[in-house]
Amino acid sequence: MARPLNIDAAALDRAYVLHPFTNLEDHARTGGPMMVKGSGITLTDASGKTYLDAMAGLWCVNVGYGRAEIADAIREQAVTLPYYHGFSSMSTDTPAILAERIVKAAPEGMARVFFGSSGSDANDTQVKLVWYYNAARGKPGKRKIIARNRGYHGVTLAAASLTGLEGLHKGFGIPLDFARHVRAPHRLWEAEPGMSEADFVARLAGELEDLILAEGAETVGAFIAEPIQGAGGVIVPPKGYFPAIQEVLRRHDVLLIVDEVICGFGRLGTMFGSEVYGIEPDLMTIAKGVTSAYVPLSGCVVSQRVYDVIAGAGRTHGPFGHGYTYTAHPIAAAAALANLDIIENENLIGAAAERGAQMRAALADAFGDHPLVGEVRGEGLVAAVELVAKREPATRFDPSLKVAPRVIKAALKRGLISRALPSSDTLAFSPPFVVTSAEIAEIVGRAREALDEVTNELSTEGALARAS
Ligand SMILES: *Cc1c(COP(=O)(O)O)cnc(C)c1O
Repeated sequence: MARPLNIDAAALDRAYVLHPFTNLEDHARTGGPMMVKGSGITLTDASGKTYLDAMAGLWCVNVGYGRAEIADAIREQAVTLPYYHGFSSMSTDTPAILAERIVKAAPEGMARVFFGSSGSDANDTQVKLVWYYNAARGKPGKRKIIARNRGYHGVTLAAASLTGLEGLHKGFGIPLDFARHVRAPHRLWEAEPGMSEADFVARLAGELEDLILAEGAETVGAFIAEPIQGAGGVIVPPKGYFPAIQEVLRRHDVLLIVDEVICGFGRLGTMFGSEVYGIEPDLMTIAKGVTSAYVPLSGCVVSQRVYDVIAGAGRTHGPFGHGYTYTAHPIAAAAALANLDIIENENLIGAAAERGAQMRAALADAFGDHPLVGEVRGEGLVAAVELVAKREPATRFDPSLKVAPRVIKAALKRGLISRALPSSDTLAFSPPFVVTSAEIAEIVGRAREALDEVTNELSTEGALARAS
């Protein structure tokens, strides 16, 4: 299976690939690490250098790299029946078995799964489901969707409009006009100094209600939220946040879409993030962890209440007019079933809870009293270290210093992959669930060395006094 040695794939990559979320001109000049192999939480690049992947790819390779069970399931399905579609009442068996398994594991009231191939396309589907549902109920005006600043919901037109990060809007002329955004539940930056957690929750719920009233509840269809905001900063909601938000939504007949793309299937030490925060979704988005990214698969999990209306609309509209060629792809479903088997058989959700507690304690220990660390936070096996120019009062670095990206670079040099998240200087940690105690110690140790290196550089540059 070895690749021909005379092919310089890195040169082909620089010459021919248009990379996602990459500085294109820089990449064409210098390229970046090209990964060729993975096992457990360790990746190897084309030069033979190894890395501890503390991000599980993009928060998704939850069972770790190199799982033969998933590869076998993919092969078996591919030789038996690689593909057939689900249009016009056709079906295949693996998606049906998977749908039951997802619904049975999902929060109460969830009833059906619509499959897609990415978190982004699933969130676009959610928007269409909300519009279709409200039109079918005789409330076609309820089309606006409220999301949150720093929320991440993907990059397709509707999903990118809901994503609350400037970098995904600039140059594209989005968000589209159905999207609105409210404040992120990020206490470090969004609460007044000395504000209690309860007062912060009251502020957030109050602002949501003010927006619904200002827009007119008859124009607002849904609110979308991740249990923990992942790519926007690993933002953990304050206690009581979701119950307070849900109370407002119910009062104004606004659906709740819960984006479980990162949190779903064990990341928070529970099957779904909704369990941790008392969330009762009307619609739930899944992707990433459902297959541990061995093949692309996503889904919209739909509650009975919403499903009944959508199904009933068929009497006037005819067949449900939405679906992808790859909806309910049997190979993706087979990979998901094998992935869920591993998670269950190896009790990886329990492992995520246990290793997560260990990782967060180790991070707090290594970073808690560092002068440039404003907060260490997380839940289950996902955590963030947020860097600040000054702790009291919390003060951001001048963004042009690119402090977090520099730490990530210093970590990469040491064979550690973490991620710098946008909007403020945050380092993320979200390793595969199979991470060992020794690997956690190694991850945290290398991350601390990387921060110390950048702290020294900043000090030498005289940049530590320059806050924004
Ligand atoms: C990654 C992500 C998405 C988008 O998924 P893609 O597969 O990249 O399209 C949506 N929502 C959340 C919460 C995510 O983390």
